[in-house]
Amino acid sequence: MKDDISTKIKKKAYESGYDLCGIIEAKPFNEFNDHIKIRVEKFPKSTYLYESLYSLGEPLEKANWAKSIIVCIRRYNKYKIPQSLDKLFGKVYLFDGRLNYSKEYVEKNLFEDYLKEQGMKTYRDGVTARWAAVKAGLGHFRKNNFIYTEFGSYVWIDTWMVDVEMEYDKEYDKVIKDCPEKCNKCIESCPTKALSEDFTMDRGSCIAQLSFFSTDLPSEEIREKMGTWVYGCDVCQDVCPMNINRWSEEEEFPELNEISEIISLEKIFTMDENTLMNVLKPRFWYISEDRIWLWKCNTLRAMANTGDNKYSKLIKDACNDNNDKVRKMALWALKKFDTYKFNK
Ligand code: SF4
Ligand code: SF4
Repeated sequence: MKDDISTKIKKKAYESGYDLCGIIEAKPFNEFNDHIKIRVEKFPKSTYLYESLYSLGEPLEKANWAKSIIVCIRRYNKYKIPQSLDKLFGKVYLFDGRLNYSKEYVEKNLFEDYLKEQGMKTYRDGVTARWAAVKAGLGHFRKNNFIYTEFGSYVWIDTWMVDVEMEYDKEYDKVIKDCPEKCNKCIESCPTKALSEDFTMDRGSCIAQLSFFSTDLPSEEIREKMGTWVYGCDVCQDVCPMNINRWSEEEEFPELNEISEIISLEKIFTMDENTLMNVLKPRFWYISEDRIWLWKCNTLRAMANTGDNKYSKLIKDACNDNNDKVRKMALWALKKFDTYKFNK
């Protein structure tokens, strides 16, 4: 009986466009919580970023009725990457299945409706997605903290807690998979050294975190290291040999070409507030309405890091911007341009 339900659910998940599906018992993720504690000890300055994560390791605190967790994975490495956005935006945000016009969004909701039609109580996305996927035997962690499935690490994970017992999947013997001998590329390549040793990470130094959740300017020391990334960062996945040749680029993601036409470093910087709020913000919503300055500062920093003289007028003009943070970043960018000239 339990076996029948899990077979039915998995069949429906695959029909709903998921590439992998596994089911585990709903219980605390003790190893996840232990790893959070280790990170807090290693990176005390980033404690505030980790504390909110503990609840993801305690599914029953949110849903004490939960019996099982359904874990579904989609790969997004099938989409065509607009060249103009590569190395500016993290790819997961370009192919974001949470956008209500994406087929991922529609299919996810239909799958959830199906669970409800089966009489199940559901709670979506309340657990640590990567640990749930590993426990369900769908992938392994590697040194860069991402989970690697048979499709590589460019995957998106959805989870549901449900109130029905089912047949459970077995996790692999090893949670963290051995990387090829001597490979350390992700750690060596991390621009800000947020990755400094195996399977750990200082969230407060990660470009992704800094590019969209900052409430102040990043330190001068780190600005240059952040390179041209405006929203997110893919370096530690892009350099990984386990991801080589994983992009098949066989499908177009809806509306991405249209948005890529209004996005470049100059275009974002000079974008009027109306377009920023009504076009860019709904698409990349981690930068909140009260931090529009962050878009400007991220693009100024990225322009300075290209070293391309074509941006110098715009940077000079930005030194008179109304916003104090934008002015400060522009002055830094200008100084950096002077250094380029000096070193030529
Ligand atoms: S996403 Fe970028 S900054 Fe963050 S850990 Fe990976 S390489 Fe480092
Ligand atoms: S880059 Fe190398 S060390 Fe890092 S996760 Fe990939 S295989 Fe492992």
